[in-house]
Amino acid sequence: MQIPKMKIQPLLFLTCFVLLVSDLFGQPLNQKRKFTRQDTLRGSIGPERAWWDVLHYDITVEPDFTTKSIKGKTIIQYKVLAGQRTDYLQIDLQQPLKVDSIFYNNKLYINYPPRPYYNEGNVWHIPLPKAPVNSVQSVTIVYHGNPKVAQMPPWDGGWIFTKDSVGNPWMSVACQGLGASVWYPCKDHQSDEPDSGAVLTINVPDKLTAVGNGRLTNKNISNGKTSYTWEVKSPINTYNIVPYIGKYVSWRDTLQGENGKLDLTYWVLEQDLEKAKKQFQQVKPMLRAFEYWFGPYPFYEDGYQLVQAPHLGMEHQSAVAYGNGFQNGYLGNDLSGTGWGTKWDYIIVHESGHEWFANNITTKDLADMWVHEGFTDYSETLFIEYYYGKEAGNEYVQGLRKKIVNDRPVIGIYGVNQEGSGDMYYKGANLIHIVRQIINDDEKFRQILRGLNKDFYHQIVTSKQVEDYISQKSGKDLRKVFDQYLRTSQVPVLDLKAESDKIKFKWTNCVQGFNMPVKLSNGQWINPTTLEQKIKAGSNFKDVEVDKNFYIQVKKS
Ligand SMILES: [Zn+2]
Repeated sequence: MQIPKMKIQPLLFLTCFVLLVSDLFGQPLNQKRKFTRQDTLRGSIGPERAWWDVLHYDITVEPDFTTKSIKGKTIIQYKVLAGQRTDYLQIDLQQPLKVDSIFYNNKLYINYPPRPYYNEGNVWHIPLPKAPVNSVQSVTIVYHGNPKVAQMPPWDGGWIFTKDSVGNPWMSVACQGLGASVWYPCKDHQSDEPDSGAVLTINVPDKLTAVGNGRLTNKNISNGKTSYTWEVKSPINTYNIVPYIGKYVSWRDTLQGENGKLDLTYWVLEQDLEKAKKQFQQVKPMLRAFEYWFGPYPFYEDGYQLVQAPHLGMEHQSAVAYGNGFQNGYLGNDLSGTGWGTKWDYIIVHESGHEWFANNITTKDLADMWVHEGFTDYSETLFIEYYYGKEAGNEYVQGLRKKIVNDRPVIGIYGVNQEGSGDMYYKGANLIHIVRQIINDDEKFRQILRGLNKDFYHQIVTSKQVEDYISQKSGKDLRKVFDQYLRTSQVPVLDLKAESDKIKFKWTNCVQGFNMPVKLSNGQWINPTTLEQKIKAGSNFKDVEVDKNFYIQVKKS
């Protein structure tokens, strides 16, 4: 059953909204949802996607604020892969946008004989001549139309045409989940990032400024219009390439980081400059904490930018979207209820944390999104620990638990563009915290986090790869722990029974063979399995407690 949008209490709306996005909008909680051919075309690497690898996107877009329309052109450069190929190439461009013309290697082409190109919903099937394996080709799509307008960005997605507080046009895009094909033609799947980055050219009326990802490489003024060209040289998720258009002003700074000088650029609306300069002082401490835990910022070449956005926030690579109102907490609230969540700006910390988990390490399928959201949610705990101590971090991550709903597994269904439960945030963070307890060596745990970002640098991964990596590097077999917390919605129960001078214990409500070790609050470790075991009671049975850093249930009888 889907949660009715209108019945949500306003407070609930603000505090857990961002985390339940996919449940609230468009995707029912029921795992048995029927998937369509459109879902499969979008969410899997079908035959018309498998034979080519995106190397580069060159996107040009010109929005019209009055008619809420855009016109654009995207050049997609790709490499022909070995193996079987179909006569068609699949490009995603969501309705109601319309293709005007197609160029193959810069030559106009209407229909490659004898077949025409055609669309099937949001997918365009383009017939192309066969080209040699490993050769580099390009297809250019010219298009226009009224893109889907976001109703409640960043949660539902689409183009945003709004006005700032003094009445100037303010435009941007939020499209995570929904997909970048809501505004530009691309291979809209997380598994294929353009290897050599992307160029975004934005044409705007000359009283407005256009900001994009990475670095400004060109600015051209003519006939009352300004054309801004931005470039990222690193691979980037399609949904992360985003224009920001408004009455922006900027300032720069640098950070002496682990890999040398990191350029920082801030873009905010004129009227918010003073507030922003004060609030954005949190950026450097945030980056320092994350470099300590995760290793060097992954995009020195493209720099770090924080850009004021007409929505709460998003992890847009090298142009992080900020809309938290220049205040601490999550729109002023503490998600953990412990007091630690209002000591820092949630959007600066969380969305920038994604530069490591989501942007540096990206999951192949949306179903594994917990790798983005679980680790990034845990980055908040690590940020707190870095500045306020370990106990503060423990309290924060434990405080988040009350938001876990256990409605369905954290990992979603593969191949249909479907995320798992919104629990990927808080339960994902708590899972990482549990894993850290089991590793029981904070330095080793930190080296694993840094190792993930180094060994999977700018790569696409599966959850399984990340799980295996952690097991291997920690020397602990964590397979059952990951299965339990990621692939079921059951919270394991530790069954404790008193028997004269002994305590009997075992796991219930768990996957077969569940064998997670657990620390008692007196510091003693036990190794329960699903078979009952006994230990000598060292203290009074009623005083026996499990370390609160484990997210489990305890049943005493
Ligand atoms: Zn996030």
